Amino acid sequence: MIFSHQNAVPQKPQAPIARAVYQPHRWREECGVFGVWAPGRNVADLCYLGLFALQHRGQESAGISVTNGFHIDTVKGMGLLTDVFRSGRPVLDGHAAVGHVRYSTHGGSIHVNIQPIFANGAHGFVGLAHNGNLTNAEVVKQNMLREGYLFQTTTDSEIMLNLIAGSGAPDVETKIGESLKQVAGAFSLVLLTADSLIGVRDPKGYRPLCLGRLPGSPDAWVLASESCALDSVRAEFVRDIEAGEIIIINRDGIRSSVYERSENRSGCVFEHIYFARPDSVLDGLSVWESRFRMGRHLAKDFKGQADIVIPVPDTGITAALGFSEESGLPYKEGLIKNRYVGRSFIMPQQISREATVEMKLNPVRFNLAGQRVVLIDDSIVRGTTSARIVSLIRRAGAKEVHMCISSPPITQTCHYGIDTSIRKELIAAVKTVEEIRQTLGVDSLSYLSKTGLLEAVNDPGNLNHCLECFWVKNTDSKTSRAEKLGNHV
Ligand code: SF4
Repeated sequence: MIFSHQNAVPQKPQAPIARAVYQPHRWREECGVFGVWAPGRNVADLCYLGLFALQHRGQESAGISVTNGFHIDTVKGMGLLTDVFRSGRPVLDGHAAVGHVRYSTHGGSIHVNIQPIFANGAHGFVGLAHNGNLTNAEVVKQNMLREGYLFQTTTDSEIMLNLIAGSGAPDVETKIGESLKQVAGAFSLVLLTADSLIGVRDPKGYRPLCLGRLPGSPDAWVLASESCALDSVRAEFVRDIEAGEIIIINRDGIRSSVYERSENRSGCVFEHIYFARPDSVLDGLSVWESRFRMGRHLAKDFKGQADIVIPVPDTGITAALGFSEESGLPYKEGLIKNRYVGRSFIMPQQISREATVEMKLNPVRFNLAGQRVVLIDDSIVRGTTSARIVSLIRRAGAKEVHMCISSPPITQTCHYGIDTSIRKELIAAVKTVEEIRQTLGVDSLSYLSKTGLLEAVNDPGNLNHCLECFWVKNTDSKTSRAEKLGNHV
């Protein structure tokens, strides 16, 4: 579907996409963003390629906006990039573009919420793509409604867009800085005006954002949620955008300012555990390397006896390799993933909900039969899927199953852009590690300690990462049970 800045309303209303029946068991990332400044190049193509590398961060909708200096035009729709751009890449001319892949938490999965979104202010149009979640969205929005602001979407992203577009400040840095000081929470943004590409990261740096330079031209730049997207357009990694930084790219070059400083950074540690691609580098740290070290820590703390180590694919693979190297146990493939079971997979009605795991994962009996198995996974959310995976492995003939999790027990929900279960559904919020072990039906269960996690992400003093979903409130006896009773049974 094509939009232009004169016509921000869809030309043909569309019904919300039908909900996929298959429900992944993991927490889900909210979004990925990508921006390109490259006069003389096909920026829509570059943006498409960059977003393609970020598809794991959001699969509900996708969009690309391009400016030629006079207009901003957009193609966006529900589904994967390949659904939205069925006939290939978008054919839009311009010198700069921003793009977005979305998984919704705030605002719901409806057509008007697809990003990039736009507003028309005193100084022209602004397009915005957002990764993260505001924690004071409702309060700020109610105040804005009383002041006469209008909203076309139900997202928290439009709050920032309207504040920026409605600002009377004389320059773009001040408009953005003054606007974003009114909101709290997590946001990495790419913005597009008629003459500039802009990147912004919130003062705590919850969500990642990095800068790259395209080869062959000193004034061709890209901004991306993860460095793997720079690789997809052969851009050279330049640096991460700093927490609280605004970076503006236009015909005058590139300039940077800091609109707000925060003493401590709070980069989401779950990016390293699960969300980000292992081939990305976030804030100077290889995701692959941090996952490998998580596996090494698990092996150092493992007290049992085993014959082989296997991962739950894909996100358990790197930690399982680290476990194998540290322990000397052979790494084997014990589960094969059907890569065609995704969010668009519709389960036949006669197949039970339990069977969804078996549609996605199938055991390798040759490797499992008669073996004492260490099973590595990145996290346990509700525990239902983990129990089904353990059952699969036992039915394939494994003699013992020792489960090792490359994160601490998840005891809290996330307010910063991750779609989490409600707290009472988090198994570690309501059960001890021993109770979880019994629920999963494993011979032993080990979680990575917070100390091990922080060492794995090179942050032993915990100065740079958010660990809120592992917090234990001492006043809440149920929440603290798993933590009090230790991470291993
Ligand atoms: S609460 Fe957990 S998932 Fe949310 S930002 Fe913090 S570390 Fe990431």
